Amino acid sequence: MTAFAKRAEEFRPSPVRAVFETAMDPSVVSLAGGNPDLSLLPGGSIGTLAATLLADRGPEVLQYGSGAGTEAFRALVVNLMRSRGSQVTEDQVQPLAGSQAGLDLVTKLYCNPGDVVLAEGPTYVGALGVFGSYEVEVRHVDIDGEGLNPDDVAAALDTLAREGRRVPFLYTVPTFQNPTGVSLSTERRRALVEVCAARDVMILEDDPYGLLAFDRGADPAPTLHSLAPDHVIHLGSASKIFSPGLRVGWAVAPGPVRARMQIAAEAVLIHPSMLSQELAVAWLGSPEWPDVLDRTVALYAERAAAVTGALAEHLGDRAEWTDPTGGFFTWVRMPGAGLTDVLGRGIREGVVIVPGAACYADGRSSDAVRVAFSGVTPDRAKEGIRRLASAVRPA
Ligand code: PMP
Repeated sequence: MTAFAKRAEEFRPSPVRAVFETAMDPSVVSLAGGNPDLSLLPGGSIGTLAATLLADRGPEVLQYGSGAGTEAFRALVVNLMRSRGSQVTEDQVQPLAGSQAGLDLVTKLYCNPGDVVLAEGPTYVGALGVFGSYEVEVRHVDIDGEGLNPDDVAAALDTLAREGRRVPFLYTVPTFQNPTGVSLSTERRRALVEVCAARDVMILEDDPYGLLAFDRGADPAPTLHSLAPDHVIHLGSASKIFSPGLRVGWAVAPGPVRARMQIAAEAVLIHPSMLSQELAVAWLGSPEWPDVLDRTVALYAERAAAVTGALAEHLGDRAEWTDPTGGFFTWVRMPGAGLTDVLGRGIREGVVIVPGAACYADGRSSDAVRVAFSGVTPDRAKEGIRRLASAVRPA
């Protein structure tokens, strides 16, 4: 057999997908995948909406479509972005098959092998897979309870400049981060865009959880995009607020960048699914949707509280964790617990989590695990944490 290309040697299965089969076993509590709860996926409504769409528009919605996406979908994204504080025009919106495709396309467009991408430490596992597949080196900037420290980012960029390394962009999930649940403070957002703009380093803002603030009355932090639209490519997703399976996401970028993304997207996708885009428009643009979102975040907030309550009960003396204010995750640090086979030990106790080490590109060990509370009922979540506590108890 012909040998694989050099870049294929960097392909790694996602550690989250690798535990998928174990996680499907009903006797196992899965706190691993960032899945929206099944009860929130609008199965019945989608059947009706699809029937209406096909009756109104006929088989045209099943035909090949435009690489620029549908007009109605771009208009929907313009509205969603407005609710996140970003003023956007339709020619700045690139519809995609999930935001994961945006990570791939932006890396493909901007990175040569050997370039460096700066990313939070820890960061989203799925982004590491993409960066590796383009032979990009990832340098982490460790985060604290308020996210990235802009001074640390400046220092890292200046060091890399002195080393003569090219850094096309900083990758960040600033709101309800995957994997920690941490959000970047507004003050730091302002400083961060200044640090990057001053050094001509673009920011790739990945924002699939931005609409999932538990306190719906509170003012959301501004998107990085709203603070520096010429320096930020923003990725959004319908996966966590509508359906991950229909694969709907988008990028927002300055017009000429968006146009280049479309060409790159067409080479892989031809175009994003028209049916999926139109269903997203019908659901996320419906008058009932704001109420659905209220109920959605109330459910996730209840689950987050169940998890943090169980952590206090079972691991209170040995662990620290982030108190999530939105999104799907909390990050549980257990200093001194020795988490090297934490996944295997967890599976033996009947619980799966994502080991913290998977969220770093540099092979460092980690004293933390990521716990996803989104897809389990409060009772299952409590049981999962009880099992996790048994798994990490010293023998
Ligand atoms: N970015 C982050 C931070 C994520 O958590 C995820 C999903 N786990 C994605 C991107 C990919 O999402 P999508 O389903 O939109 O491709």
